[in-house]
Amino acid sequence: MKKELTCIICPRGCTLTVNIENSNVSVSGNSCPKGEQYGINECTNPTRTVTSIVRVTNREDTMVSVKTSIPIPKDKIFEVMGEIRKVSVEAPVKIGDVIISDLFSADIIATKEIL
Ligand code: SF4
Repeated sequence: MKKELTCIICPRGCTLTVNIENSNVSVSGNSCPKGEQYGINECTNPTRTVTSIVRVTNREDTMVSVKTSIPIPKDKIFEVMGEIRKVSVEAPVKIGDVIISDLFSADIIATKEIL
């Protein structure tokens, strides 16, 4: 099986061709080793860092931005977004505070300070 995709690791955006034959995965079109690794990961175990916002209950019209501490499996994004939507926090919030722990091995952490 052959798959074409665009490397999103840097702005150059190389067009990668990934060949998958049984358990052999090879990548061409990459300009650097990062692209090869991206192509392999994208076709064998795609992951993404999820970013979102969470409501701050004790501050009017205030949300705190959050993200996963590590990339999570791409097919779990909607489940993670659903869990994030269920929670709210109270200020103060510091950058790095854990909002939800251990969601598909990642924590949901604050990326903004709310005093
Ligand atoms: S293959 Fe390398 S140079 Fe090309 S987009 Fe990916 S990271 Fe950038």
